[in-house]
Amino acid sequence: MSDCLFCRIVAGDVPSTRVHETERTFAFRDVTPQSPTHVLVVPKAHHADVGALSDADPALLADVLAAAVAVARSEGLDGGFRLVANTGADGGQTVSHVHVHVLGGRGMTWPPG
Ligand code: AMP
Repeated sequence: MSDCLFCRIVAGDVPSTRVHETERTFAFRDVTPQSPTHVLVVPKAHHADVGALSDADPALLADVLAAAVAVARSEGLDGGFRLVANTGADGGQTVSHVHVHVLGGRGMTWPPG
């Protein structure tokens, strides 16, 4: 989708700092990091949110989660990390292309602020 920010990042039309890539996934650093490591993992194909992706292509959802784990390992988050998929308006989703936040590098409390 030409008007989707994350589709444009995957296509290379908007610059990003790539940290991991597979045939069907792409991971890049969040421009406003909330922790020392903050990486976004997306499917290259456009799906609006995690529910839409689960319905359309659950194997791709598994690929996204596996990529998120690979990112956490390559970033050295041996002490643990947090995966977040904000979904919909009430979930705080601001970009309508499903993405998983990989957060780590500091201790995290629960619930988040
Ligand atoms: P969410 O609020 O869960 O939809 O997350 C969207 C995330 O995208 C936010 O953490 C933003 O900081 C991040 N973001 C927005 N624009 C860019 C960009 N051009 N490059 C990298 N991250 C971005």
